[in-house]
Formats: sequence, structure tokens, C-alpha cells
Amino acid sequence: MKTVNDFSFANKKALIRVDFNVPLNDAFQITDDTRMRAAIPTIQKILNDGGSCILMSHLGRPKEGPAEKYSLKHLVQHLSNLLGGVEVAFATDCVGTAAEEATAKLGPGQVLLLENLRFHKQEEKGDETFAGALAKLGDIYVNDAFGTAHRAHASTAVIAKFFPGNKCFGFVLSGELASVDKVLHGAEKPFTAIMGGAKVSDKIVILEQLIKKADNIIIGGGMAFTFVKALGGNIGKSLFEEDRIPNALNILETAKQLGVNIYIPLDAVCADNFSNDANRQTCKTSAIPDGWMGLDIGPETEALYAKVIGESKTILWNGPMGVFEMENFAHGTQAAAHAIVEATSKGAYSLIGGGDSVAAINKYHLGEKVSYVSTGGGALLEYIEAGTLPGVEAVNS
Ligand code: AMP
Repeated sequence: MKTVNDFSFANKKALIRVDFNVPLNDAFQITDDTRMRAAIPTIQKILNDGGSCILMSHLGRPKEGPAEKYSLKHLVQHLSNLLGGVEVAFATDCVGTAAEEATAKLGPGQVLLLENLRFHKQEEKGDETFAGALAKLGDIYVNDAFGTAHRAHASTAVIAKFFPGNKCFGFVLSGELASVDKVLHGAEKPFTAIMGGAKVSDKIVILEQLIKKADNIIIGGGMAFTFVKALGGNIGKSLFEEDRIPNALNILETAKQLGVNIYIPLDAVCADNFSNDANRQTCKTSAIPDGWMGLDIGPETEALYAKVIGESKTILWNGPMGVFEMENFAHGTQAAAHAIVEATSKGAYSLIGGGDSVAAINKYHLGEKVSYVSTGGGALLEYIEAGTLPGVEAVNS
């Protein structure tokens, strides 16, 4: 795996695929610049080498060509601020004359941001001619967009073939890969995977992969009830996917064969409707009364899960333990987050990845107290499922 550290960028133009898909408000102000900040070390390394940076990204989901709302020009000033005042030039198109003229002018130490890649339909189609037009702009291709590395788009994967020997990962992408590889291939035992979230169907493949690696699998969230039901429990009107019963049984059977401990919630905080203000009671998960639904793990489960997490040396967390967006059903998710923090403080390696568990860890301001918070939800899950990603393959091959 080659990273920007393997190259000197002196007098070179680095064409960097970043993930600047940041949220903007109605006044086009950036409301969360995490993704931009993440890319700064890569940009800085190249500038310090005496190279120049041509940055390309998508922003939002433009449907029909250019749209003001999705223009990357709204990011120019903030990017300049993040770079300590380095001037950032802007090209009104990511290919063609505008882009070529702007890159021709670019000297060492300078930065250029290209307009939204997705203003061209060819980007998402992985069009080779379009990838070639982008490739013309730089000498070395750097992929630093982990969040889109699971897409075989022109700028994330196809483009790499135009840079034989001159392609590498930036610090965001290499950091993500190092973290997930540590968990999947170098995990100190016991390795506990905590899986939560809404649906089993979204997590089947990842569970099937993790069962081969983990010592313990902790299950929470709405997906747990399909397991409870598969084992003959009464789950009331809790979230349930009948067609996934065979998958759940298969996972339980495989775990038994492989000697993996699977933990399914013993008790749940139940509600009589899907609302923070609903009536509540704690029930055994196998005996939820009709008309009630489990929306969080109960205290007995919390304690058991905290114990298992506390004894772990490697922890992967994907998905909340309950409907953590509602305060009355957030306790289990918060308890799991604190147990992970505690285990981390005692030397465990913890990776938090995939959508809502990242939202949860950030909500409790615990991001600094775990080992790694992944920036790419879908990409991380696909990497665990498939063992690689198109954007990673393209740079490695
Ligand atoms: P995912 O994107 O699959 O990680 O799912 C996250 C969503 O699952 C969150 O919005 C949670 O509110 C929801 N969720 C977690 N536990 C439950 C539950 N017991 N019943 C319904 N939804 C849940």
C-alpha cells in the first residue's frame, strides 16, 4: 500500500480525490467541516514537499448538471482558512478548458479546487474518457476519499489506471485502512463486534464475515428482535423481518460451530408506541406483551454487554443499541459507548464505524476517547464484507 509518504511531490501536481461532501445551510455556509479538516494533513504534506494540489470532490447529489446549491465554490474561503491562509484558486469546471488553464497556472505551494465532479453524469458512470480528462490535470493521483472508495466512479477508481506507478493513498484513506485492517487481521483477542441498528437484512453479510473473526458478537437495536423471534420468543410489535429468520438461525448455528459467543438482549425497554413520550416498561425480550415494542436494551443486558466489552482487547462497534435519537431509549447506546471508552482506557483497540454509531459517539462527545472513528460508513461496511473496495483496488493494482 503506497501512501503520500512514499512520494516526494516537489514540482509535481498532485491530483487529489478528497471527500468534501459537507453539509451546507441555505446561506451556503458549511455546518460541519469534519471532512474538510480530515483532508488538511495530506494537502499540507504535498505543499510542504514543494508540490501543488488539485482537489476534486463531489458535493451532494446534483441531478441535472451544474446547480448553485451544489457548487464547490462555497468551500473555497473556508478551505483557505483551514490551510492557514493559503490562497485557493477555483476552476468553474472539473474538466476541459477551465480546468486545464487553471492547472497550467498552478505553481509549487499552490492549491486549486475543481468544480463538483457530479455535475458530469460520467463521474458516477465510471466513464473512462471522463476519467482520462481528469487525469490530464495532474502528475500523481492521490485518493484520500474513503467515504466514496466503495464506488467505482471515474475519480475514485477508473482514473487510477492513468497513473501507473504514480498513485497512492492520502492520510485519511491510509488511516482508515490501517484501522480496519488492524481489527480484521491483527485483532488482539478477545475481539468483540457490537452490532446494532434497525434491520438484520442490512447486517447479514457483515455478520457472516465477522463471525469468522470475532470471539464475541453482541447484538442490539431493532435487529435483535428477529433473533429473539427466531428462538421462539414473543416480541410484541417490535421491529421484525420474518424473511430473515433463516439467516438469524444460520448465524446462531455457525457461531455455535465456530465457538463464537453471540449475545442477544435479555431484556428491553419497551414502549406502547414509537415515540419518546410513549408509556414504558422493562420486559424480558422473550416475553414482550402484545401491543408493545422493544426500543432499547434493558438494564440486565446493559450490564452483561458492559462486562463483555470490558474484557475485550479489540472492539468494533456498528449500530446503536436502541432508538438513541429519543432520549428515553438512548440509555443502552450511551452505556455501550461508555463501556467502549472504559475498555479503550484500559488498552483495548476500539473502532467505531458505520453511520449511527458514529453519530452516537459524537453525540456523547466521546470521539476522542476511542481509538478510531471511521469517516466512511458505507465504505467501512463494504470493506468488512468484501475485504476490499474498488477505490482501494485501483490504487493497489
Ligand atoms: P442503522 O442505520 O442500521 O445502524 O440503524 C440505525 C437506526 O436504528 C437508528 O435510527 C435507530 O433509531 C434505529 N433503531 C435502533 N434500535 C431500534 C429498535 N429497537 N427499534 C426500531 N429502531 C431501532
